[in-house]
Amino acid sequence: MKILVIGGGGREHAIAWRLAREGHQVFGAPGNPGIAQEGRILETTDYLAVAESVGADLAVVGPEGPLVVGVADQFRARKIPIVGPTRDMAQLEASKIHCKEFMQRLGIPTARFVRAETANAATDALSNFEYPMVVKADGLAAGKGVVIAQNRAEAEAAIRALGPRLVIEEFLQGEEVSFIVLSDGRNVLALEATQDHKAVADGDQGPNTGGMGAYCDGRILSARETQQVLDTIIAPAVGATNFTGFLYAGLMMTVDGPKVLEFNVRLGDPETQPLMHRLDCDFGDALMRAATGALNGATLRWKPEPSVCVVLAAAGYPGNVRTGDRIEGIDSCGAQVFQAGTRLGENGLETAGGRVLGVTASGTDLASAVASTYAAVSRVHFGGMHYRRDIAQKGLKRWSPATIGSQPSGT
Ligand code: AMP
Repeated sequence: MKILVIGGGGREHAIAWRLAREGHQVFGAPGNPGIAQEGRILETTDYLAVAESVGADLAVVGPEGPLVVGVADQFRARKIPIVGPTRDMAQLEASKIHCKEFMQRLGIPTARFVRAETANAATDALSNFEYPMVVKADGLAAGKGVVIAQNRAEAEAAIRALGPRLVIEEFLQGEEVSFIVLSDGRNVLALEATQDHKAVADGDQGPNTGGMGAYCDGRILSARETQQVLDTIIAPAVGATNFTGFLYAGLMMTVDGPKVLEFNVRLGDPETQPLMHRLDCDFGDALMRAATGALNGATLRWKPEPSVCVVLAAAGYPGNVRTGDRIEGIDSCGAQVFQAGTRLGENGLETAGGRVLGVTASGTDLASAVASTYAAVSRVHFGGMHYRRDIAQKGLKRWSPATIGSQPSGT
């Protein structure tokens, strides 16, 4: 198939890489230098014109931005199959207030919350919560619109920084899991669960980012937990909306069961990188089935080997980012490197954004996947490069023989 991948980050490079390996002809818009290695890129955001000019059989949308402004509606109006929700459905991600009220209406488990439209209302709402508590900006913020406030002064500062339209909510404790399904409007196909790392520094310290690394391991959720997520979260959400595309539930696995932190209306970045690395079937076929209402009976196959992606970020990220640093060592590092914030400068590949690269590898077990990934990371370099050194450590700890022996079964 001729498949147009919309977007230009690490997630889209991973999708394009996977589809190219399956023998599909890949087009990327606006693309990036990594995606250009997998197919042909057209540096434009007029996606419909691109699809029509290259005769695309199918399009898949990476980022939320084009979905929120209705790219999937435009494609459907021209009868070009596309994987992605309608503009209306994309509001689930574009507005946290809308998302929380949607969950409340459907009885989908989520953190207790108050919506606020003014700074005064938000400040008044603080007394309903204990610390730590969470302040969230209503609109799209690339993962950076959330503050965990440890005390009243921090909460008030967050209200000033993120307001006035806010969600104030209870802090949930537990393991965070990214659960993504592909839906054709009625039938859903669950991807393997993954775990992201949002904070910029080791030990989940520092400000939140778009995601500093992720891993995919078949043990992240048990079969029972997966079923619980499908029954209590995914089925009501898809049933009420006929959602099509990728529905991403950011979960907290609490002692009271899985609760939703947020819904996204597309694949996660960086979760997609380890997911594409582990996938072992025709992803293009699953995408076409989702876009044409034919997912019933479809399955996905995964390699048993866990996979890990470590994001290499530019100087300053997640604040003001320096660009133009020369990137070295990608081709000989020994892992798959998905490109995100890169561009071709006069002296070759250089940094062009906050999250620059996603170094991704698999291994016979999680420990060896981690070791291979970090060995590759040590061979890549650019000025100001920084990354977390503890990606997947939570999983390694959870499944170490000592920890497993000390936990009750079924957790
Ligand atoms: P969100 O954009 O809503 O997923 O929030 C970004 C990150 O903030 C999440 O991935 C969590 O790490 C953290 N977070 C958000 N809401 C909560 C909550 N209610 N309790 C604990 N952590 C949260």
